[in-house]
Amino acid sequence: MSYTRTEVIAHAAPASGEPLVRTTIERREVGANDVLISIEYAGICHSDIHTVRGDWGPQPYPVVPGHEIVGIVTEVGSAVTRHEVGQRVGVGCLVNACRECVACLGGDEQFCLNGSVGTYAARDRDGSTTQGGYSTHVVVDEHFVLSVPEGLDPAAAAPLLCAGITTYSPLRHWGAGPGKKVAVVGLGGLGHMGVKIAHALGAEVTVLSQSLKKQEDAERLGADDYHATSDPATFEVLAGRFDIIINTVSASIDANAYLGLLAVGGAMVNVGAPPSAFEVSPMALIYGRKSFSGSMIGGIAETQEMLDFCAEHGIGSEIEVIAADAINEAYERVLASDVRYRFVIDASTIV
Ligand code: NAP
Ligand code: ZN
Ligand code: ZN
Repeated sequence: MSYTRTEVIAHAAPASGEPLVRTTIERREVGANDVLISIEYAGICHSDIHTVRGDWGPQPYPVVPGHEIVGIVTEVGSAVTRHEVGQRVGVGCLVNACRECVACLGGDEQFCLNGSVGTYAARDRDGSTTQGGYSTHVVVDEHFVLSVPEGLDPAAAAPLLCAGITTYSPLRHWGAGPGKKVAVVGLGGLGHMGVKIAHALGAEVTVLSQSLKKQEDAERLGADDYHATSDPATFEVLAGRFDIIINTVSASIDANAYLGLLAVGGAMVNVGAPPSAFEVSPMALIYGRKSFSGSMIGGIAETQEMLDFCAEHGIGSEIEVIAADAINEAYERVLASDVRYRFVIDASTIV
């Protein structure tokens, strides 16, 4: 399908490792199944930084990151049935998938067997390169557009579209709830959502952070316990304790040490995506029937379920709203683990 294109303003990384700059990009005209969204807020995910810095390999620069998008529908295509003009909506990490394969039909569009299309730096089915939410507007197929429930603050809801679903999905899949002990490793964007959601699901939550600096915050977010991973005693005191460990760390960790913290039959779920490999010893898994697994965001229906769950439980992200000219500074702070706990760009400053 070919579309006419319209220019909009955005902030893009011009090349690997270069600071982001203001630029213009083209969005396709609204097709029959499309929704035009006037963006209000876009969260900054560590994946944005991995991508633009080339951690995950070559990218189709210029790259406009941003897959935690909240905005208002300003136009709908002729065949759109799920959304209407004036509605507040969200877009996460996915903007397309085949919708016919076993994964898509099972609600796991993120694992589409014919290739899911990411919100930025991906090749869409019309051959164009997707550009993300650090921008004024975006055009997305209605199937990949979520409804943001009333009652959720729009800025604090933006990070739910990635950080929220990325922690909600594995917590649900591995059965976090009353009577389960959950550890969240790394208290950043994903980690703090993991704590809030696991707590709301009724699990007992422990935060494992590099230092004791974030202890008070963790307790306020709903953690029952907190330990510093820089203290070797942590790995003795907590040995065999957890049913589920969600690792959100953006760097490599000593996976075997954390596997030692699992109870019999426990699962360590990796959602952090550093470019380097993990070493896992078979011995760390077989004694105790433990598993080491991974999870990537969540499907569209599950993302809607997560948004509704968060609205019901009054859960939003802890955010620092910034203007678009502060994106590069925010990146440095995320890299220094100095984020409390998600930067969100106010898209009205993209001018
Ligand atoms: P973030 O806000 O930077 O949080 C990461 C946290 O990890 C930091 O706050 C820090 O927590 C800890 N950390 C950082 N460097 C560390 C190190 N060298 N050693 C130990 N701990 C360290 O990042 P995020 O946005 O939550 O993303 C986290 C990771 O998940 C990234 O790799 C991202 O690409 C990935 N991700 C994956 C998915 C998915 O679908 N699987 C989705 C989104 C993001 P403390 O200060 O508490 O130690
Ligand atoms: Zn993300
Ligand atoms: Zn598919």
